Amino acid sequence: IYILAIESSCDDTSAAVLCNTKVLSNVVATQEIHKKYGGVVPELASRAHQQNIVPVVHQALAEANIDKKQLSAIAFTRGPGLMGSLLVGASFAKSLSLGLSIPLIEVNHMEAHILAHFIDDEGMTAPTFPFLGMTISGGHTQIVRVNNYFDMKVLGETLDDAVGEAFDKSAKLIGLPYPGGPLVDKNAQLGNPRAFDFPKPKVEGLNFSFSGLKTSILYFVQRETKKNPDFVAENITDICASVQFTILEILMDKLKLAVKQTGIEQVAIGGGVAANSGIRARLKDAEETLGWKTYIPKFQYCTDNAAMIGIVGYLKFQEKQFTDQRVGAKARYAIGS
Ligand code: ATP
Ligand code: FE
Repeated sequence: IYILAIESSCDDTSAAVLCNTKVLSNVVATQEIHKKYGGVVPELASRAHQQNIVPVVHQALAEANIDKKQLSAIAFTRGPGLMGSLLVGASFAKSLSLGLSIPLIEVNHMEAHILAHFIDDEGMTAPTFPFLGMTISGGHTQIVRVNNYFDMKVLGETLDDAVGEAFDKSAKLIGLPYPGGPLVDKNAQLGNPRAFDFPKPKVEGLNFSFSGLKTSILYFVQRETKKNPDFVAENITDICASVQFTILEILMDKLKLAVKQTGIEQVAIGGGVAANSGIRARLKDAEETLGWKTYIPKFQYCTDNAAMIGIVGYLKFQEKQFTDQRVGAKARYAIGS
Protein backbone atom coordinates (compact mmCIF):
# COMPACT_ATOMS: atom_id res chain seq x y z
CA ILE A 1 0.00 0.00 0.00
CA TYR A 2 1.36 3.41 -0.98
CA ILE A 3 -0.16 6.41 0.77
CA LEU A 4 0.48 10.03 -0.15
CA ALA A 5 -0.16 12.22 2.90
CA ILE A 6 -0.64 15.97 3.06
CA GLU A 7 -0.41 18.19 6.14
CA SER A 8 -1.20 21.90 6.04
CA SER A 9 -2.92 22.70 9.35
CA CYS A 10 -0.72 25.56 10.49
CA ASP A 11 2.44 27.08 9.04
CA ASP A 12 4.29 24.04 7.70
CA THR A 13 3.45 22.56 4.30
CA SER A 14 4.31 18.88 4.35
CA ALA A 15 3.89 15.84 2.11
CA ALA A 16 4.98 12.27 2.74
CA VAL A 17 4.85 8.94 0.96
CA LEU A 18 4.49 5.77 3.03
CA CYS A 19 4.78 2.17 1.96
CA ASN A 20 2.62 0.43 4.55
CA THR A 21 4.02 1.60 7.92
CA LYS A 22 7.39 2.73 6.53
CA VAL A 23 8.14 6.31 5.58
CA LEU A 24 9.67 6.64 2.11
CA SER A 25 9.76 10.45 2.18
CA ASN A 26 8.66 13.22 4.51
CA VAL A 27 9.15 16.70 3.09
CA VAL A 28 8.45 19.75 5.27
CA ALA A 29 8.51 23.33 3.98
CA THR A 30 8.63 25.66 6.96
CA GLN A 31 7.23 29.11 6.31
CA GLU A 32 9.84 31.67 7.31
CA ILE A 33 7.54 34.63 6.62
CA HIS A 34 5.94 34.46 10.11
CA LYS A 35 9.22 35.08 11.95
CA LYS A 36 9.13 38.80 11.40
CA TYR A 37 5.60 39.03 12.84
CA GLY A 38 6.45 37.04 15.97
CA GLY A 39 3.70 34.49 15.31
CA VAL A 40 1.70 32.80 12.59
CA VAL A 41 -0.31 35.18 10.36
CA PRO A 42 -3.20 33.01 9.05
CA GLU A 43 -3.68 34.87 5.77
CA LEU A 44 0.02 34.63 4.91
CA ALA A 45 0.09 30.98 5.94
CA SER A 46 -2.63 29.93 3.52
CA ARG A 47 -1.01 31.89 0.71
CA ALA A 48 2.34 30.22 1.39
CA HIS A 49 0.65 26.79 1.44
CA GLN A 50 -0.74 27.53 -2.03
CA GLN A 51 2.76 28.30 -3.27
CA ASN A 52 4.39 25.33 -1.54
CA ILE A 53 1.97 22.49 -1.99
CA VAL A 54 2.73 21.45 -5.56
CA PRO A 55 6.55 21.51 -5.24
CA VAL A 56 6.39 19.79 -1.83
CA VAL A 57 4.21 16.96 -3.17
CA HIS A 58 6.46 16.59 -6.23
CA GLN A 59 9.52 16.38 -4.01
CA ALA A 60 7.89 13.80 -1.72
CA LEU A 61 7.03 11.58 -4.70
CA ALA A 62 10.48 12.04 -6.22
CA GLU A 63 12.32 11.23 -2.97
CA ALA A 64 10.16 8.14 -2.50
CA ASN A 65 10.80 7.21 -6.12
CA ILE A 66 7.09 6.59 -6.57
CA ASP A 67 4.92 7.62 -9.50
CA LYS A 68 1.54 9.06 -8.60
CA LYS A 69 -0.10 6.24 -10.56
CA GLN A 70 1.25 3.78 -7.97
CA LEU A 71 -0.55 5.49 -5.08
CA SER A 72 -3.25 3.52 -3.25
CA ALA A 73 -4.87 6.47 -1.45
CA ILE A 74 -4.46 10.10 -0.40
CA ALA A 75 -4.63 11.11 3.25
CA PHE A 76 -4.94 14.71 4.39
CA THR A 77 -5.36 16.71 7.60
CA ARG A 78 -9.01 17.69 7.96
CA GLY A 79 -8.45 19.56 11.22
CA PRO A 80 -7.96 21.01 13.76
CA GLY A 81 -6.02 24.03 12.57
CA LEU A 82 -6.29 27.31 10.70
CA MET A 83 -9.23 27.18 8.27
CA GLY A 84 -7.41 28.90 5.40
CA SER A 85 -4.43 26.58 5.78
CA LEU A 86 -6.50 23.41 6.08
CA LEU A 87 -8.50 24.29 2.97
CA VAL A 88 -5.39 24.33 0.79
CA GLY A 89 -4.42 20.77 1.78
CA ALA A 90 -7.99 19.50 1.70
CA SER A 91 -8.74 20.91 -1.76
CA PHE A 92 -5.48 19.62 -3.15
CA ALA A 93 -6.04 16.13 -1.71
CA LYS A 94 -9.62 16.00 -2.97
CA SER A 95 -8.69 17.00 -6.52
CA LEU A 96 -5.79 14.58 -6.70
CA SER A 97 -7.87 11.67 -5.40
CA LEU A 98 -10.56 12.53 -7.95
CA GLY A 99 -8.02 12.81 -10.75
CA LEU A 100 -6.36 9.51 -9.89
CA SER A 101 -9.61 7.75 -8.92
CA ILE A 102 -8.19 6.55 -5.62
CA PRO A 103 -9.69 6.73 -2.11
CA LEU A 104 -9.53 9.87 0.03
CA ILE A 105 -8.82 9.57 3.75
CA GLU A 106 -9.37 12.34 6.30
CA VAL A 107 -7.12 12.55 9.34
CA ASN A 108 -7.45 14.33 12.67
CA HIS A 109 -4.14 16.17 13.25
CA MET A 110 -4.10 15.55 17.02
CA GLU A 111 -4.83 11.84 16.64
CA ALA A 112 -1.96 11.78 14.17
CA HIS A 113 0.42 13.36 16.71
CA ILE A 114 -0.38 10.34 18.93
CA LEU A 115 -0.48 7.65 16.26
CA ALA A 116 2.91 8.78 14.90
CA HIS A 117 4.25 6.13 17.28
CA PHE A 118 3.05 3.44 14.89
CA ILE A 119 5.45 4.53 12.16
CA ASP A 120 7.91 1.73 11.59
CA ASP A 121 11.29 3.41 11.94
CA GLU A 122 14.55 2.38 13.52
CA GLY A 123 14.69 3.23 17.20
CA MET A 124 10.92 3.53 17.60
CA THR A 125 8.67 0.86 19.09
CA ALA A 126 4.91 0.92 18.88
CA PRO A 127 3.05 1.14 22.20
CA THR A 128 0.58 -1.59 23.10
CA PHE A 129 -3.00 -0.74 24.06
CA PRO A 130 -4.16 0.77 26.28
CA PHE A 131 -1.66 3.59 26.74
CA LEU A 132 -1.69 7.20 27.85
CA GLY A 133 -0.94 9.72 25.12
CA MET A 134 0.13 13.24 26.02
CA THR A 135 -0.21 15.72 23.17
CA ILE A 136 2.03 18.69 23.80
CA SER A 137 2.01 21.12 20.92
CA GLY A 138 1.51 24.67 19.75
CA GLY A 139 -2.26 24.54 20.08
CA HIS A 140 -2.97 21.66 22.47
CA THR A 141 -2.05 20.09 25.78
CA GLN A 142 -4.00 16.94 26.47
CA ILE A 143 -3.77 13.64 28.27
CA VAL A 144 -5.56 11.00 26.26
CA ARG A 145 -6.47 7.44 27.08
CA VAL A 146 -5.78 5.46 23.90
CA ASN A 147 -7.73 2.19 23.93
CA ASN A 148 -7.18 1.47 20.27
CA TYR A 149 -6.15 3.31 17.09
CA PHE A 150 -9.50 4.98 16.76
CA ASP A 151 -10.80 4.72 20.30
CA MET A 152 -9.38 7.64 22.26
CA LYS A 153 -10.72 9.60 25.20
CA VAL A 154 -9.40 12.96 26.39
CA LEU A 155 -8.92 12.74 30.17
CA GLY A 156 -7.65 16.28 30.68
CA GLU A 157 -6.56 19.32 28.74
CA THR A 158 -5.42 22.90 29.08
CA LEU A 159 -7.92 25.47 30.28
CA ASP A 160 -6.03 28.33 28.61
CA ASP A 161 -2.67 28.40 26.77
CA ALA A 162 -1.13 25.30 25.22
CA VAL A 163 2.30 24.26 26.46
CA GLY A 164 3.91 25.21 23.14
CA GLU A 165 2.38 28.66 23.51
CA ALA A 166 3.77 28.85 27.04
CA PHE A 167 7.23 28.19 25.60
CA ASP A 168 6.79 30.64 22.73
CA LYS A 169 5.26 33.45 24.81
CA SER A 170 7.88 33.09 27.56
CA ALA A 171 10.55 33.21 24.87
CA LYS A 172 9.05 36.39 23.43
CA LEU A 173 9.12 38.05 26.86
CA ILE A 174 12.87 37.51 27.04
CA GLY A 175 13.44 38.71 23.50
CA LEU A 176 13.83 35.38 21.67
CA PRO A 177 12.40 35.19 18.13
CA TYR A 178 9.38 33.08 17.10
CA PRO A 179 9.03 30.15 17.52
CA GLY A 180 10.88 30.41 20.81
CA GLY A 181 10.35 26.87 22.11
CA PRO A 182 13.43 25.34 20.51
CA LEU A 183 15.57 28.32 21.62
CA VAL A 184 14.41 28.05 25.23
CA ASP A 185 15.38 24.38 25.03
CA LYS A 186 18.83 25.21 23.67
CA ASN A 187 19.55 27.87 26.29
CA ALA A 188 18.10 25.74 29.07
CA GLN A 189 20.70 23.06 28.45
CA LEU A 190 23.39 25.53 29.57
CA GLY A 191 21.55 26.96 32.58
CA ASN A 192 20.58 26.17 36.16
CA PRO A 193 16.96 24.99 36.39
CA ARG A 194 16.77 26.01 40.06
CA ALA A 195 18.12 29.54 39.55
CA PHE A 196 14.70 31.21 39.64
CA ASP A 197 11.41 30.07 41.11
CA PHE A 198 8.17 30.34 39.17
CA PRO A 199 4.89 29.25 40.75
CA LYS A 200 3.05 26.18 39.46
CA PRO A 201 -0.66 26.68 38.82
CA LYS A 202 -3.18 24.98 41.07
CA VAL A 203 -5.49 23.14 38.73
CA GLU A 204 -7.59 20.21 39.90
CA GLY A 205 -7.48 16.83 38.20
CA LEU A 206 -5.88 16.25 34.84
CA ASN A 207 -6.43 19.71 33.38
CA PHE A 208 -3.61 22.17 32.77
CA SER A 209 -3.15 25.92 32.92
CA PHE A 210 -0.21 27.87 31.54
CA SER A 211 -1.41 31.48 31.35
CA GLY A 212 -0.34 32.28 34.93
CA LEU A 213 3.22 31.25 34.24
CA LYS A 214 3.46 33.72 31.39
CA THR A 215 2.26 36.53 33.67
CA SER A 216 4.68 35.67 36.45
CA ILE A 217 7.56 35.64 33.98
CA LEU A 218 6.46 39.03 32.67
CA TYR A 219 6.44 40.54 36.20
CA PHE A 220 9.72 38.85 37.06
CA VAL A 221 11.44 40.25 33.98
CA GLN A 222 10.01 43.75 34.56
CA ARG A 223 11.10 43.75 38.20
CA GLU A 224 14.62 42.52 37.55
CA THR A 225 15.19 44.72 34.51
CA LYS A 226 14.33 47.79 36.60
CA LYS A 227 17.23 46.88 38.91
CA ASN A 228 19.58 45.82 36.12
CA PRO A 229 18.76 46.68 32.49
CA ASP A 230 21.01 43.84 31.30
CA PHE A 231 19.43 41.25 33.57
CA VAL A 232 17.88 39.16 30.80
CA ALA A 233 20.98 39.11 28.61
CA GLU A 234 23.22 38.23 31.56
CA ASN A 235 20.94 35.44 32.80
CA ILE A 236 19.38 34.07 29.65
CA THR A 237 20.44 30.45 30.17
CA ASP A 238 19.32 30.37 33.82
CA ILE A 239 15.99 32.01 32.95
CA CYS A 240 15.36 29.50 30.15
CA ALA A 241 16.37 26.56 32.33
CA SER A 242 14.07 27.73 35.15
CA VAL A 243 11.11 28.37 32.84
CA GLN A 244 11.54 25.01 31.18
CA PHE A 245 11.94 23.29 34.55
CA THR A 246 8.63 24.75 35.74
CA ILE A 247 6.83 23.66 32.57
CA LEU A 248 8.27 20.14 32.81
CA GLU A 249 7.23 19.88 36.47
CA ILE A 250 3.66 20.79 35.49
CA LEU A 251 3.60 18.17 32.72
CA MET A 252 5.17 15.41 34.84
CA ASP A 253 2.89 16.08 37.83
CA LYS A 254 -0.17 15.59 35.62
CA LEU A 255 1.24 12.51 33.94
CA LYS A 256 1.93 10.94 37.34
CA LEU A 257 -1.63 11.67 38.39
CA ALA A 258 -2.99 10.18 35.16
CA VAL A 259 -0.96 7.01 35.66
CA LYS A 260 -2.20 6.80 39.25
CA GLN A 261 -5.83 7.33 38.26
CA THR A 262 -5.88 4.91 35.33
CA GLY A 263 -3.31 2.34 36.42
CA ILE A 264 -1.85 2.56 32.90
CA GLU A 265 1.93 2.81 33.05
CA GLN A 266 2.57 3.12 29.34
CA VAL A 267 3.08 6.73 28.34
CA ALA A 268 3.57 8.12 24.83
CA ILE A 269 4.17 11.78 24.00
CA GLY A 270 3.50 13.59 20.74
CA GLY A 271 3.42 17.08 19.24
CA GLY A 272 6.06 19.77 18.75
CA VAL A 273 7.01 20.07 22.43
CA ALA A 274 7.83 16.34 22.44
CA ALA A 275 10.99 17.49 20.62
CA ASN A 276 12.09 19.22 23.84
CA SER A 277 15.25 17.65 25.23
CA GLY A 278 14.07 18.13 28.83
CA ILE A 279 10.78 16.27 28.48
CA ARG A 280 12.51 13.51 26.54
CA ALA A 281 15.03 13.08 29.35
CA ARG A 282 12.30 13.15 32.02
CA LEU A 283 10.32 10.43 30.28
CA LYS A 284 13.39 8.31 29.82
CA ASP A 285 14.17 8.68 33.53
CA ALA A 286 10.61 7.66 34.39
CA GLU A 287 11.36 4.21 33.01
CA GLU A 288 13.98 3.76 35.74
CA THR A 289 12.53 5.78 38.58
CA LEU A 290 8.81 5.13 38.15
CA GLY A 291 8.81 1.84 36.27
CA TRP A 292 6.83 3.25 33.35
CA LYS A 293 7.22 2.18 29.76
CA THR A 294 7.66 5.37 27.76
CA TYR A 295 7.53 6.17 24.06
CA ILE A 296 9.21 9.16 22.47
CA PRO A 297 8.87 9.80 18.73
CA LYS A 298 11.86 10.63 16.57
CA PHE A 299 12.32 14.40 16.20
CA GLN A 300 10.99 14.51 12.65
CA TYR A 301 7.67 13.01 13.79
CA CYS A 302 7.16 15.48 16.70
CA THR A 303 6.68 18.85 15.03
CA ASP A 304 4.16 19.04 12.21
CA ASN A 305 4.87 16.51 9.47
CA ALA A 306 2.91 14.55 6.88
CA ALA A 307 4.41 11.18 7.82
CA MET A 308 2.16 11.07 10.90
CA ILE A 309 -0.83 11.81 8.66
CA GLY A 310 0.34 9.00 6.39
CA ILE A 311 0.48 6.40 9.15
CA VAL A 312 -3.10 7.22 10.15
CA GLY A 313 -3.98 7.04 6.44
CA TYR A 314 -2.50 3.56 6.31
CA LEU A 315 -4.34 2.43 9.46
CA LYS A 316 -7.63 3.80 8.09
CA PHE A 317 -6.98 2.23 4.69
CA GLN A 318 -6.77 -1.17 6.42
CA GLU A 319 -10.25 -0.56 7.82
CA LYS A 320 -11.58 1.00 4.61
CA GLN A 321 -12.34 4.21 6.46
CA PHE A 322 -12.60 6.39 3.39
CA THR A 323 -14.28 9.73 2.98
CA ASP A 324 -16.05 11.29 0.02
CA GLN A 325 -15.59 14.48 -1.93
CA ARG A 326 -18.13 16.38 0.16
CA VAL A 327 -15.79 16.37 3.17
CA GLY A 328 -14.88 19.83 4.44
CA ALA A 329 -12.07 21.14 6.61
CA LYS A 330 -12.73 21.47 10.36
CA ALA A 331 -10.90 24.22 12.27
CA ARG A 332 -12.07 22.72 15.57
CA TYR A 333 -11.96 18.96 15.58
CA ALA A 334 -11.87 17.09 18.88
CA ILE A 335 -9.91 13.87 19.36
CA GLY A 336 -12.14 10.80 19.24
CA SER A 337 -15.07 12.64 17.62
P1 ATP B 1 -1.30 21.69 17.12
O1 ATP B 1 -0.56 20.43 16.86
O2 ATP B 1 -1.79 21.79 18.52
O3 ATP B 1 -2.33 21.98 16.10
P2 ATP B 1 0.93 23.05 15.97
O4 ATP B 1 0.71 22.01 14.92
O5 ATP B 1 1.05 24.47 15.57
O6 ATP B 1 -0.23 22.90 17.03
P3 ATP B 1 3.34 21.65 16.56
O7 ATP B 1 4.04 21.88 15.26
O8 ATP B 1 2.86 20.31 16.85
O9 ATP B 1 2.18 22.70 16.81
O10 ATP B 1 4.31 22.18 17.68
C1 ATP B 1 4.86 23.49 17.59
C2 ATP B 1 5.22 23.94 18.98
O11 ATP B 1 6.27 23.12 19.49
C3 ATP B 1 5.70 25.36 19.05
O12 ATP B 1 5.06 26.01 20.11
C4 ATP B 1 7.20 25.21 19.31
O13 ATP B 1 7.77 26.27 20.04
C5 ATP B 1 7.22 23.94 20.12
N1 ATP B 1 8.53 23.30 20.11
C6 ATP B 1 9.20 22.74 19.07
N2 ATP B 1 10.40 22.26 19.45
C7 ATP B 1 10.51 22.52 20.79
C8 ATP B 1 11.50 22.29 21.78
N3 ATP B 1 12.66 21.68 21.48
N4 ATP B 1 11.25 22.69 23.05
C9 ATP B 1 10.09 23.29 23.37
N5 ATP B 1 9.11 23.55 22.48
C10 ATP B 1 9.32 23.18 21.21
FE1 FE C 1 0.76 19.91 15.37
